[in-house]
Amino acid sequence: MRRFDLRSLSFGRSDEASCRLPVELDPFVFGGERYTVSGDRVDLSLTASRVGTKLVLQGAFSTQLHGACARCLQDVDLAIDVSGAEYVADGESQGVEEAEEAYVRGYHLQVDRWARDLLADALPARLLCREECRGLCPVCGANLNEDGEAHVHV
Ligand SMILES: [Zn+2]
Ligand SMILES: [Zn+2]
Repeated sequence: MRRFDLRSLSFGRSDEASCRLPVELDPFVFGGERYTVSGDRVDLSLTASRVGTKLVLQGAFSTQLHGACARCLQDVDLAIDVSGAEYVADGESQGVEEAEEAYVRGYHLQVDRWARDLLADALPARLLCREECRGLCPVCGANLNEDGEAHVHV
């Protein structure tokens, strides 16, 4: 799913509605690194709270992020929890700068872009296989996690 029609939410008698949305997440590049998520999709749990003609959308999902360690370039899997909120009035995102593209337009939530941007906000500054990763040898490119301190050039 890439777009979700907010008018399809069923509030019933309460002013809160929730649902789970399967969302495709294409591989994306952030800070020069390429990331993918498990199965290229996430299960976004969406909760909408209604106040008059306004809506507060809360989205959350957990996923397994794949990428390359910023130091040694080995594959890294990282469990990550993502959440965020979006404020909607009369079917349009609120507080959107002119340069930005609204996530909600005409009651349609662009759920893939929203999920991807929430994920980008939750990313660690640098993806590392482990905090003490030794990285690559600047001379020969060997993985120093394997050779350790024995690795020297003369
Ligand atoms: Zn590493
Ligand atoms: Zn070396």
